[in-house]
Amino acid sequence: MNKFFKVVTYLAVLVGLSALTQAGRFQTVVIDAGHGGRDKGGSYGRVYEKHLALDTSLRVDYMLRKRGYRTQLTRKSDVFISLSKRAEIANRYENSIFVSIHYNYTYNKSIKGLETFYYTSRSRPLASYIQSGMLKKYRAYNRGVKYARYAVLRRAKNPAVLVECGFVSNYYERKRCMKGWYRQRMAEGIVDGIVRYQSARRRGYVW
Ligand SMILES: [Zn+2]
Repeated sequence: MNKFFKVVTYLAVLVGLSALTQAGRFQTVVIDAGHGGRDKGGSYGRVYEKHLALDTSLRVDYMLRKRGYRTQLTRKSDVFISLSKRAEIANRYENSIFVSIHYNYTYNKSIKGLETFYYTSRSRPLASYIQSGMLKKYRAYNRGVKYARYAVLRRAKNPAVLVECGFVSNYYERKRCMKGWYRQRMAEGIVDGIVRYQSARRRGYVW
């Protein structure tokens, strides 16, 4: 084999290898802070879900960027964004994942715990990684990973999940949600889940 073909073969192998290692990976994390502006989400007294969700989302964004991930927030301040706009932002990034961050509310004040929702079966592994990531950071009640027909999840073309970081309506959880250290732990858990999911994608365990 002459030198030219040796070089060409070598380059082809390199390109093939890098394509293999890049194949399953997602490129961008779209972080969606739930609610905002006139939509305050679940609330109890002066504790508004929209503020808790934004704070947690900014923490997730900061930590992901520090780890070298490309991120996009759907909102960076207290503004209203429609559900269709959120989905439109998510779908702008072809090879991405979408993580919508919320805090929970229900009229039954004894209900508590963490839960993560998915719509497509392809999104389920991401939901599982994030749910277990959060539970490792704080041993809250595990409400599990669940199927739900939320509009933002239905419209997203890429893996998309909606994370509920605790109940504003529950006395004990509300007290925790108001603390920076708790929101930091939830953010760390979400980031851990995303990192583990990326590694599973890279190895071809999930697609
Ligand atoms: Zn919400």
